[in-house]
Amino acid sequence: MLERLRIVLIGTSHPGNIGAVTRAMHNMGLSDLALVAPRCEPITQESISRASGADHLLHQAAVHPTLEDAVADCTLAVGASARSRTLPWPMVSPRELAAHLPEECQHDNARVALVFGREDSGLTNAELQRCHAHVHIPTNADFSSLNLAAAVQVIAYECRLAWLETAPTTTPTAEENGSDLASHADLERYFAHLERTLVAVEFHDPDKPRQLMARLRRLYLRARPEQMELNILRGILSATEKKITRSETP
Ligand code: SAH
Repeated sequence: MLERLRIVLIGTSHPGNIGAVTRAMHNMGLSDLALVAPRCEPITQESISRASGADHLLHQAAVHPTLEDAVADCTLAVGASARSRTLPWPMVSPRELAAHLPEECQHDNARVALVFGREDSGLTNAELQRCHAHVHIPTNADFSSLNLAAAVQVIAYECRLAWLETAPTTTPTAEENGSDLASHADLERYFAHLERTLVAVEFHDPDKPRQLMARLRRLYLRARPEQMELNILRGILSATEKKITRSETP
């Protein structure tokens, strides 16, 4: 999904901003950058320095004379706007936009352009009207304009979060961990061992149980321990028992 997102910058005038945009993109796993009629040299010492190691995206960036060229192969274009315009247009928040992307990207040829405007004047009405929808980052109404790279960062972050939710879990599987979950019988053996030890250290009085074992069962069952983890816990109990036996021996 992230590969299908293109950041389109129109008429950018500061190389530092272009560099900072590539940094934000690379941080979030985006790599497709298109520059439309940039008003500065995109590859400068400043842009490379602000890219902080993502300057390969500067070198890969496509440069186009017009917005139409930059989005010709895109199936969806969304214009980022700091202000509301005279003609109301479908308007979404970054989160709403991102939530729609997994569905959009199910189409084989899906490619989504996220279009950002000039530092001084944003996007023109004509440019905004070439977009299916507008995305506005909710801000202080009296101070609504973010720095260009900051705006890219916020929107790219929401896209990444939405992508992470659809991606398979990154928690190591039992197989990768090398351990299976403890079985019911393993757990029952553990609970019996635990109770014996708690009685031996005089923490637990079976005549006044106060639901201690039930509460501990609930705790361990919630944790869904693996066999290997249960072995560690049993090892701790055995070591405790050994120590008590030794100290009780005259
Ligand atoms: N002064 C300009 C904004 C320039 S900021 C104006 O008034 O329109 C440069 C670009 O960053 C904007 O064109 C827009 O694409 C993006 N941007 C800045 N703040 C934003 C916000 N609150 N929501 C969405 N995009 C924003």
